[in-house]
Amino acid sequence: MANMHAMVLDNPHMPLVMRERPVPVPAAGEILVAVSACGVCRTDLHVVDGELEHPKLPIVPGHEIVGRVAAIGAGVGGFTLGERVGVPWLGATCGACPYCREGAENLCDAPVFTGYTRDGGYATHAVADARYCFPLGEVGDDAEIAPWLCAGLIGWRSYRMAGEGKTLGLYGFGAAAHILAQVAIWQGRRVFAFTRKGDMVAQDFARSLGAVWAGGSDDLPGEPIAAAVIFAPVGALVPAALKAVKKGGRVVCGGIHMSDIPSFPYSLLWEERHVMSVANLTRADAHEFLEVAPKAGVRCEVTRYPLARANEALSDLREGRLQGAAVLLP
Ligand SMILES: [Zn+2]
Ligand SMILES: [Zn+2]
Repeated sequence: MANMHAMVLDNPHMPLVMRERPVPVPAAGEILVAVSACGVCRTDLHVVDGELEHPKLPIVPGHEIVGRVAAIGAGVGGFTLGERVGVPWLGATCGACPYCREGAENLCDAPVFTGYTRDGGYATHAVADARYCFPLGEVGDDAEIAPWLCAGLIGWRSYRMAGEGKTLGLYGFGAAAHILAQVAIWQGRRVFAFTRKGDMVAQDFARSLGAVWAGGSDDLPGEPIAAAVIFAPVGALVPAALKAVKKGGRVVCGGIHMSDIPSFPYSLLWEERHVMSVANLTRADAHEFLEVAPKAGVRCEVTRYPLARANEALSDLREGRLQGAAVLLP
């Protein structure tokens, strides 16, 4: 087969470089995916910026992959050539550790993560363990679905962890929040959007999606809310969100990395408020979300970049210059 192209990170803190490589041949249990779109997730920034330890290097980032099955390895059932599939962050799990055995494969002791410990989707092609890929059907645009594969799936897990309350705060109104806001509103909840102080564009964006309130992260809406999910990687948002939630309320940290959480008075946690974190996803989370999202009519606001401009997409995300999600098109 011909060669493929990939945007490669040789070392953290360096720009990605376009490289040409032979198209990989899928091993037993794997599929080769011809990438049609790959979302840019904040986790990719944490890898590029050296905030996540021990990536495979060099690494091709990207774990919000939508593509078509281009080759099928030995022993793979359930996929056909040309079928549209999604490849998420959870690349593989061991199946044998206590967490895997208990159905908590998101906490696996020996996991593989797409675009972090195995090459991901900032490329024309990627191989993936077929057991962790999902059929996506033919409804919807590739680029608009790509952010579902992480912002959607891990956002969904965070959302579920936030409980059943009728009021939900979202801190950091980016890719995940704009998806979960749509799901929450569809489920009859009232959404409160917290953005960077003075970010009127993001606040208007949140209101345009149906948020009943939008303000800065230090502001408090007129009523205490049942739960908050924090998607921005800013530890100071934990005490801020604790101030906003009511008695018994939950604060869920949805990101893989956060700056240090400043100390705060116990009174903010008192009255059975909870602080919790979400790690990765299970395949069950993915199946649930992929069923809910089309029903909820989730539409992603995306900014498209050619693959060669991946560095620009990463900078725009880092600097908060885009609404919704950035997506690379090979
Ligand atoms: Zn395991
Ligand atoms: Zn992600």
